Amino acid sequence: MTHTPEKIQQWVKWDHDFHWHPFTQTKIWEKQDPLIITEGDGNFLIDAHGKRYLDGVSSLWTNVHGHNHAVLNQALQNQLGKIAHTTLLGLAHPGSIELAKDLIAIAPKNLGKVFFSDNGSTAVEVALKMAFQYWQQTPATAQVPHPKLKHKFMSLEHGYHGDTLGSVSVGGIGIFHEVYRPLLFGSIQLPSPHAYRDRLPLLLEKTEEIFKKFHTAVAAVVVEPKMQGASGMRNAPDGYLKGLEKLCRQYGVLLIADEVATGFGRTGKMFACEWEGVEPDFLCLAKGITGGYLPLAATLTTNQIYSAFYADPSEFKTFFHGHTYTGNPLACAVALANLGLFRQTGFWDSLTEKIAVLEEKLAVLKDHPHVGDIRQVGFMVGIEIVKDRAAKLSFSYEQMTGYKICMKAREHGVLIRPLGDVIVLMPPLSITVEEIDLLVSAVVKSLSAVLA
Ligand SMILES: *Cc1c(COP(=O)(O)O)cnc(C)c1O
Repeated sequence: MTHTPEKIQQWVKWDHDFHWHPFTQTKIWEKQDPLIITEGDGNFLIDAHGKRYLDGVSSLWTNVHGHNHAVLNQALQNQLGKIAHTTLLGLAHPGSIELAKDLIAIAPKNLGKVFFSDNGSTAVEVALKMAFQYWQQTPATAQVPHPKLKHKFMSLEHGYHGDTLGSVSVGGIGIFHEVYRPLLFGSIQLPSPHAYRDRLPLLLEKTEEIFKKFHTAVAAVVVEPKMQGASGMRNAPDGYLKGLEKLCRQYGVLLIADEVATGFGRTGKMFACEWEGVEPDFLCLAKGITGGYLPLAATLTTNQIYSAFYADPSEFKTFFHGHTYTGNPLACAVALANLGLFRQTGFWDSLTEKIAVLEEKLAVLKDHPHVGDIRQVGFMVGIEIVKDRAAKLSFSYEQMTGYKICMKAREHGVLIRPLGDVIVLMPPLSITVEEIDLLVSAVVKSLSAVLA
C-alpha cells in the first residue's frame, strides 16, 4: 500500500519533531527524510512510497524466515484470540511451558532450565546475576575453596552484550562503552580472539595466564561464540571456544555463551556452540527467537545452577529478578511456530548450500583494493572497507565511508547497516539464491560508486 506524499511528509516532520532514534547521531538524521517502512513481504521491506528493498541485515539481525510469514502470522492470530498477556510471576501459561521444553530439546545437552526475559541485554543480565548468586550460594569445594570471593567477570576485548549497565560492564567496544566507565563494575578483559586468528596456541596461552591470575575472583566468562558481532563481525579461530570451555572447567569459572546474535541458525547450525561441541553453563538467546516478530529472550542454564537456588524461602536463595512482560504469550506463540519452521525437511541442507553460495559470490570482492578483509561465519558477514589494502590504511571516522556505501545500496534496492567501516550482511535464513545475488551485487556497485 502506498501513502500520499502529504501523509509521508507529516510522518517525516513528526519523526524529526518528536522522535529520538537509537544508536543515531540526530544531527545527521535530521538532515534527511527517514526511510519509513510500512510493510514486509518475505525477505523484502516496503517503504511508504511502495518501494521494495531486500532486508540485508534481517531488520537488525532478528528476522529468520521472512516477513509477513503465513505460519507465524497464523500462530500470532491464534494466540490473540486467547490472551495477549498474562504474567509468569506466580502463574504459568501453555506458550512459555511448551517453548521452554522445545528450547531445551534443541540446546546443548547439559542445559535443563529456561528463564525468560524480553531482550538480549536482559538475557545477559540474568546470566550475570545468576552466575554471581550461584557462587554466593554454593559450598566450598577442593577446586573452589572460596566461592564467595567470586565477584568478578571476564569478558573479551571487542565484545558486545547489550546496552544495560550490567551488559555494558562486560562490553569491550570503546566508542559505545567508554563514557559510562565510572558507572560500571570492572571486568577482566581477555584478548580478542580475532586478533590471533592464525595463532590459536598463543591466544589460549595468553588467555590461560589471565585465568591463572584471577580465577579465584571470577564468577564467569562471557563470550559471543565464533563471531563477535557488534564490534564489526570479528570471527574467532576454530578451536578457541572449545579451548575457553576447557579453561573454564579447569579453573572453576562458569561459561556464559551469548548467542543473542549467533543463535537460531545464523552461523549455519542452530547454535554456534554446536560447531565445537561446547556446553556452556548459560546460553543467552533473543533476536531470532521469535523469527524477528516480537521481543522475547531466554537464558538457559543447567540443573546444577538451578539447584543452588532451590531452598526454603527463609534461606533467601530465590532469584529475585523478573521483567514485567517476561515470557509474553504472543511472543512465545510466535517463537514456537518459528522453531517449527526449522524442522521443515531439507531446511539445514538448503541453508548450508546458500551459505556456500554467499561465500562464492563474495569472492569477487577478495582482491578489491578497498576491501581489507571479508569475514564470514554462516550468514554473518563483515566486509571491512579500507583506504588502501596494501598499506593497511583505514579511512578516518569522519569520512563515514561504511555509512555512505550502505546509503548508496538503497538505490540498488538493498537495505544494509554498517558497523563503522565494516559492511554487515546478515540476511534472513529464507533468502533465495537470486536474492543473495542481488545483495552482493548491490554491495559491489555501491562500493565502486562511493570509492570511485
Ligand atoms: C544484540 C545483542 C545483544 C543485545 O540485545 P538487545 O535485544 O538489543 O538488548 C546482546 N548480545 C549480543 C551478542 C547481541 O548481538
